[in-house]
Amino acid sequence: MSEKKKEKKEYLTLTSGKTWAPYNWHVGEYWTKFLDGLKEKKFYGIKCHKCGIVYALPRQVCGRCFVKMEDWVELPHEGTITSFTVVKFPYIDPNTGQIIQPLPFTTASIRLDGADTAIWHYLNVTDETKIKVGKRVRIVWQENRKGSIHDIKHFEIID
Ligand SMILES: [Zn+2]
Repeated sequence: MSEKKKEKKEYLTLTSGKTWAPYNWHVGEYWTKFLDGLKEKKFYGIKCHKCGIVYALPRQVCGRCFVKMEDWVELPHEGTITSFTVVKFPYIDPNTGQIIQPLPFTTASIRLDGADTAIWHYLNVTDETKIKVGKRVRIVWQENRKGSIHDIKHFEIID
């Protein structure tokens, strides 16, 4: 390749940086009720009148029956671990864009009593020898709640 052709090449430059683009969105009628409940330490699920399944987190339409659900159920604050992950490497929180600190941290799938589905949330235990599927847990609430899934600070093992 001649010197003249080399000079015409353009190289892509990648740069790292941070951007900040705050935005709001409407969560809809069902999530508004759910998130408002969290502010008052109430965890709402919703029950399908046709098949009886209780969804927690709530949704508008039953995934089995395709019918609109309107039977709200206040669930207890205790449940059972159905799976878990102890994260030991840096991980970006999709809610904040920041690295989750401190490491390690644990997320767990938890089926609240009376619900047929599970939610994922933080567990305050990182020693995996102390966490087992089937362990009983309960919600630990934030002191100041704002109507966010993070109004639940984490779950703690109770047995
Ligand atoms: Zn159903």
